[in-house]
Amino acid sequence: MQTITGKTGLFGVIGDPISHSLSPLIHNAALEALGLDLVYVAFAITPKNLAMAIAGLEVIGVQGFNVTIPHKQAIIPLLTEITAIAKEVGAVNTVYRTEQGWQGTNTDVAGFISPLQRMAQNWSSITPLVIGNGGAARAVVVGLRELGCQKIQVVGRNFDKLRQLQSSWSDSSLAHRLQIHSWDDLAALIPNAQLLINTTPLGMAPRINESPVADNIMQTLPSTAIVYDLIYTPSPTRFLSQAKQQGAQIIDGSDMLVNQGAASLQRWLNQEIPVEAMAQALQRHLFSN
Ligand code: NAP
Repeated sequence: MQTITGKTGLFGVIGDPISHSLSPLIHNAALEALGLDLVYVAFAITPKNLAMAIAGLEVIGVQGFNVTIPHKQAIIPLLTEITAIAKEVGAVNTVYRTEQGWQGTNTDVAGFISPLQRMAQNWSSITPLVIGNGGAARAVVVGLRELGCQKIQVVGRNFDKLRQLQSSWSDSSLAHRLQIHSWDDLAALIPNAQLLINTTPLGMAPRINESPVADNIMQTLPSTAIVYDLIYTPSPTRFLSQAKQQGAQIIDGSDMLVNQGAASLQRWLNQEIPVEAMAQALQRHLFSN
């Protein structure tokens, strides 16, 4: 643990609840590895106190902060400006200072695509299949467009919500790429899936024996598929275990978690971030729990 001095600079994360957040763990691992006199802490902020908290963070000299549930959308009108990527996702997870005031962006997109960018693939020829249509799915779809995917399939259990997702992007370059499908279509889509992504909480503790895809359907997955679960604990999830049995290449959510944090730090510090120190701190924590 670093020594806190009178000059120690402050970063943080706001959410409600927040005590479970792993962001302080991974961010402080990076700040320590960099030897900077900076510290990152979690602030429990209820929705009714959000505006007051943001003003307070500014006056006490906080240099930047992350935003998590339930404030990722609610914070937008309280900021001076948000980046184009945050507008497209419709959510802010990173706030930084400018001369004009607080500016928001979204680093979940960069975090999500990070492990995929390290693979030698021609993403423009791959049609990903995204399961779920909530907040994380929005960052995933924007990320897949950033990777170069021309068509993106999204499967959800509520067709009205799928239509809302589609219409929210009617003016964006996502409009002609997005194909929405009902849950029943999974059986027909999985045999052709090249990149399959779970964005639902199915498989996360305490529902660790659940998967969004039934065993008999997963058995039709091509062995060449890449299968990505946004959940990072347990690892592997049941979904990833099913895919591995088919011979697929699997990715859990820990890379996304670490890399969205690294992208936030990069935005605040404008220097190279020790991503490996962050990943090791996360793995040490997950294995000891
Ligand atoms: P969310 O906004 O609540 O969305 C969850 C989605 O899952 C919704 O589309 C929901 O469907 C669907 N869903 C929930 N239960 C379902 C079920 N029983 N059957 C079928 N669909 C179901 O949550 P989120 O913020 O997107 O987060 C989703 C997951 O991603 C969580 O496990 C979270 O931990 C993970 N995540 C990981 C990272 C990372 O850095 N690794 C980052 C963000 C999120 P409806 O719309 O019909 O309700």
